[in-house]
Amino acid sequence: MALHLILFGPPGAGKGTQAEQIARRRGIPKISTGDILREAVQNGTAIGQRAKAVMSQGQLVGDDVMIGIIRERIDQSDARNGFILDGFPRTVTQAIALDKMMSGRDPLVVIEIAVPEGELLRRLSMRMVCDVCGHTAGANAASGPGGTCELCGGKLVQRTDDHDNVIRERLNVYQRQTRPLIEFYQTRPTFRSVNGSQAPDRVSADLTAAIDSADSGVARGARP
Ligand code: ADP
Repeated sequence: MALHLILFGPPGAGKGTQAEQIARRRGIPKISTGDILREAVQNGTAIGQRAKAVMSQGQLVGDDVMIGIIRERIDQSDARNGFILDGFPRTVTQAIALDKMMSGRDPLVVIEIAVPEGELLRRLSMRMVCDVCGHTAGANAASGPGGTCELCGGKLVQRTDDHDNVIRERLNVYQRQTRPLIEFYQTRPTFRSVNGSQAPDRVSADLTAAIDSADSGVARGARP
């Protein structure tokens, strides 16, 4: 069975960190729309030029653009045996389009990583990322500005959308446009929720258990 996993949750829930680990363990790609867009901005592509201002204000890039990006990405050969989506879908329109793309493929497993808002604010305002490889530094790393990336030695910086007013706007946008997706998915037999306010290792163990239990539901023939 191919694992088609959506890691769902608010900014700062730890989706990227967890997705990276699962991708490595399972040998399937992590598809992060945030990373794809940041790369497009850096490379100055047409999409990047349009997305830059929207992202720096904490708003969402248009559905058509995002749906096009994902349609193309999941058709690539490395995604044939499964993939992990981090940051997509973020609107009901995107979720409906994804369901259409998935027709004829193994069902989506959707796992919510739930974290209370106060904890998200704290995490996002402290978050440091590598300005070379994009890796998010662990909370215990010597990770103030000026620290170095544990993976590539690059310089650690704050993301431009991790400043206070933009963080608040991203959390508002999440509540308004993305959280309604829980209702969209939660009645499916392959939906699970894990407690994301635990230590990363605990979250990772709970996620593994949630994926296994959702997968066995799929294997028994439960179809969303
Ligand atoms: P976070 O999950 O920490 O908010 P991401 O790295 O996933 O950040 O995304 C950064 C920004 O990229 C978002 O605030 C938004 O502007 C844009 N973006 C990413 N994914 C999507 C998407 N599926 N739809 C619309 N905009 C997106």
